[in-house]
Amino acid sequence: QAKARGRNGYRFYAPSMTGEGVERLRLETFLRRSLEKNEMFLNYQPQVEIDTGRLVGVEALVRWNHPELGLVPPARFIPLAEDSGFINQLGKWVLDEACRQMMRWQAQGLHVPKMAVNLSVKQFERGSIAGMVADILKETGLEPQRLQLEVTESVIMNTGDALGFINDLHAIGVGLAIDDFGTGYSSLAYLKQLPVQTLKIDRSFIKDISTDVNDEAIAIAIIQLGKSMQLSVIAEGVETEEQAAFLLRHGCKLAQGYFYSRPVLAQDMLERWIDH
Ligand code: C2E
Ligand code: MG
Ligand code: MG
Ligand code: MG
Repeated sequence: QAKARGRNGYRFYAPSMTGEGVERLRLETFLRRSLEKNEMFLNYQPQVEIDTGRLVGVEALVRWNHPELGLVPPARFIPLAEDSGFINQLGKWVLDEACRQMMRWQAQGLHVPKMAVNLSVKQFERGSIAGMVADILKETGLEPQRLQLEVTESVIMNTGDALGFINDLHAIGVGLAIDDFGTGYSSLAYLKQLPVQTLKIDRSFIKDISTDVNDEAIAIAIIQLGKSMQLSVIAEGVETEEQAAFLLRHGCKLAQGYFYSRPVLAQDMLERWIDH
């Protein structure tokens, strides 16, 4: 089994030489028990205003640290969780923990304006999730406007009644963002009907923004689209000052990425962002 120690001291999970099917089954078995064993935790990645560096929000990103496997990346376990239905439990846990964390920071003197949480397509397929979200908001006491739910373009396009679910969520007052924007196939006519407030430019377009003319054109088009539809636009995966400067020059005010901060533990947010 290939394992390497990351710079934060975690071992990183990599698939072993056994068959993919066996591996999958093993992962699925471990995954089912991960919550009761407290193996899941959240990282938070700051979202900032480019020209001032001001913190405008954080995105919650789930992490799974298994005692044998090490740190398993979400790209590996989220699809499994979706296939097995475990995502409903996990998604609820993430949302609850993220909302609680907002209240903890608040009590510790750190005001984080907004918490962004990712939703999976499977959470929509089960029926309206607005009730679940409303319950968690009520239990934790977080104001709905301070929660932003991220759904990918493909989720919206591939869910039968996406518009209905999104309207239900909008009705309880939470914000909605379209994640990985530009990678799916949403029609503009459809987009216009959705009560979303934010577009997140996919990081694949940001990567070579100042060298690849196509990526540059796409990023600029998304920024313009956001402007004309009065949506806020945030670029994800910003790794360099050059990319940030490009975005600002073209009217994109918000960014998230390693240039500002990697996803970090709640405690690190406190140390880095609280006013002393
Ligand atoms: P996403 O929602 O698009 O999240 C952004 C991903 O980009 C995160 O990967 C983040 O760590 C990474 N990232 C942020 N800044 C940079 C950068 O500057 N450069 C590069 N190369 N990468 C950057 P992560 O945490 O591995 O998550 C991957 C995906 O897994 C997420 O993509 C999201 O779709 C999914 N995911 C994560 N947490 C959850 C969750 O709680 N629920 C659900 N349903 N999905 C989740
Ligand atoms: Mg996201
Ligand atoms: Mg994204
Ligand atoms: Mg992405």
